[in-house]
Amino acid sequence: MCEINSHGGNYIVKKILEICLKNGAKLAEPGEFTKRAFLNGRIDLLQAESVIDVINAKSEREAKSSIKQLQGYISKEIQEIKQQILDVMVNIEVSIDYPEYDEAEEVENNKIIQMLDCVEKKLIKLEKSFDNGKIIKEGINTAIIGRPNAGKSSLMNAILKEDRAIVTEYEGTTRDTIEEFITIDGIPINLIDTAGIRQATDEVEKIGIEKAKKIANDAQLIIAIFDCTKELNEEDLEILNLIKNKKNIIILNKIDLKNKINENDERLTSVSNKIIKISALNNLGIEKISEKISELFNLNEINVDNDIIITNVRHKNLISKAIENVRKTKDTIFQNMPIDIVAIYIKDILENLGEITGEFVSENIINEIFSRFCLGK
Ligand code: GDP
Repeated sequence: MCEINSHGGNYIVKKILEICLKNGAKLAEPGEFTKRAFLNGRIDLLQAESVIDVINAKSEREAKSSIKQLQGYISKEIQEIKQQILDVMVNIEVSIDYPEYDEAEEVENNKIIQMLDCVEKKLIKLEKSFDNGKIIKEGINTAIIGRPNAGKSSLMNAILKEDRAIVTEYEGTTRDTIEEFITIDGIPINLIDTAGIRQATDEVEKIGIEKAKKIANDAQLIIAIFDCTKELNEEDLEILNLIKNKKNIIILNKIDLKNKINENDERLTSVSNKIIKISALNNLGIEKISEKISELFNLNEINVDNDIIITNVRHKNLISKAIENVRKTKDTIFQNMPIDIVAIYIKDILENLGEITGEFVSENIINEIFSRFCLGK
């Protein structure tokens, strides 16, 4: 191994690289070093995938959960489940090899079902952990919606504690969307400030409003903000209608001025049980928003230190497939199918799990995974 140090100027570095390549060196591909560690069996695919997650981590919890994956905690759990499936397989092989023990078949089947129930429980727990895993990794997409001038941009600024969005007293300034993220309890919250919702005549504004509605629809959380110096009007009611079936927080803004909206108004309470009064301009009540978000998503209960949490959608899909195959296996036993058929489904479970750890994975998938890496990792 050799290391070449040089001055950092582009030309010199390029020239050195050219000479090295001319003399037989090969340029590293994205993720090449991690890929080699995987192909040489130093780490499994789960661990290899976590390298990119550690690099891309946006929050403490995301980094912690990726490091745990890198340390092999999830691999260990998957290996344990695999071992249990192998034990089932052993029991089945015995029945195939010694069919003369037929009278013991029922006892044997009950035992296999029990073992499969245990595996299924563990897999379901892992599958469920993805609800939190997704939040840890992708954060919570949060749309801030409200009529023009309700105070969306001011709220965004107050939350971010900086002047990121443009605040003006003319209606319809936030025409496009502005995205920022904050962390609450170590979880990234992607805040999207949308265009004010109202009947627009301006074409550009109309597009912005349609986009706002779509974002609100796709968001996991909607913060609807109302100017409490004005009575609720048709547009506000449209907003309430938009959020009624979604996780939401209602904010009554401008409490420093004379209020015309009552927080106990049934039109509000029928849509949300999280209603907060604030003054975005004077930084009053802003901290209550984090508390409510935390409550809505039970963020305090996400325990990256002790729980095993799946954060990767590839792993989650394979776990779901494995659960499906465990169920199919049990069905074949209940239907008294020949034991060889049962064995086929069991092999499928082993393959699903092996695909997570990389034992049974196609080259295409491996290439696809490592292509997401950056050079030199
Ligand atoms: P947006 O159109 O919903 O993004 O609203 P802005 O954040 O641009 O705010 C519209 C106007 O309301 C601006 O003049 C802000 O200064 C003002 N404003 C926002 N929040 C408050 C508040 O809590 N109290 C008062 N008095 N004015 C506010």
